[in-house]
Amino acid sequence: MRRILVLPGDGVGPEVTLEARRVLEAVGPRHDLKLEFEEGLIGGASIDALGTPLSDAVVARAREVGCVLLGAVGGPKWDDLPVDQRAERGLLRIRKELGLFANLRPATVFPALAGASTLLPSVVEATDLLVIRELTGGIYFGTPRGRSIVEGRREARNTMVYDEVEIARIARVAFESARLRRQHVTHVHKANVLEVSQLWVEVVNEIAADYADVELSHQLVDSCAMLLVREPARFDVILTGNLFGDILSDEAAMITGSLGMLPSASLGDGGVGLYEPVHGSAPDIAGRDVANPLATILSAAMLLEYSLEAPAAAEDIRRAVDRVLENGHRTQDIASATDAGKAVGCAAMGELVIEALGSE
Ligand code: NAD
Repeated sequence: MRRILVLPGDGVGPEVTLEARRVLEAVGPRHDLKLEFEEGLIGGASIDALGTPLSDAVVARAREVGCVLLGAVGGPKWDDLPVDQRAERGLLRIRKELGLFANLRPATVFPALAGASTLLPSVVEATDLLVIRELTGGIYFGTPRGRSIVEGRREARNTMVYDEVEIARIARVAFESARLRRQHVTHVHKANVLEVSQLWVEVVNEIAADYADVELSHQLVDSCAMLLVREPARFDVILTGNLFGDILSDEAAMITGSLGMLPSASLGDGGVGLYEPVHGSAPDIAGRDVANPLATILSAAMLLEYSLEAPAAAEDIRRAVDRVLENGHRTQDIASATDAGKAVGCAAMGELVIEALGSE
């Protein structure tokens, strides 16, 4: 029996997590997986019920279960609260409490959606890459940091710092992930300028010795940014630090052209994982059954792959999504971008994926 903690959150969160859960319930028995679900509150929903964006009880459940499927948090109702009490704080806290140091964001262009990208279909088709970003170190957390007045001038500083243990553990996530894919890791850095990047190159090379079956290359971050829009299909796994990963994962996401299609996973030690769509709570369309649930359904596929070690079940879901899109079904957000057919709602899209499970 494998347990999954579902935290629907706010806005479209409850709608899209419901569809992902239904897909998991349908795929489980097909792969001898017994799944048990429990639900908890996070974000605005938790503020309304308990006065805090994340309760200690939910943190404890998440730690114990170790596998969380999350919708999205936030919305105008909670925007005026002080920063440390806002809905989004719940998300930051749960990531921290679970020690999630690796953020995995795949950018896959489904052939049927190649026209949704702002880039030429001939450039984006066949894009299937995975950005692995270090999430808990680097310049966003390094000290000293802060502002001061020096000789009458305003000055500000941040510190980029990594130690070899932090680099080694994220490098292992990248090499392990590449083994599940096309066996290629591109390490992205700025070693011509930064000592921190030089250490990354050194440590990544050392870890690579344990993965002779995976090919490793090193790429400067500036040229990687260019190659991503020129030839995105050349990349398999991109491994990088917090700052570069923040920027490159958004760039890679734009290649696909559709926010409603992008899943993510954040991993900690020992298989702990948090799986969520990249998009937010989309308050503008919440409660209208028009949200695209595919990003969350694809996040559920990542959960099967990384936390439950069920890659065949994950692939079953991905193939089903592919099939549904090939058959011309679209939610509103991707229908307008590709001019395809009549848009279906969130629940109907979930149902279509369930029906397509196991189809060839
Ligand atoms: P958003 O991602 O919620 O929405 C941006 C646009 O994309 C909107 O037009 C929305 O309708 C559309 N969209 C998003 N997801 C969609 C889906 N599944 N199907 C169809 N269309 C979709 O970003 P935003 O509007 O900047 O933020 C709204 C709220 O979400 C804010 O409170 C913000 O803080 C929060 N937020 C939460 C997360 C998270 O929980 N991880 C991430 C980003 C933003």
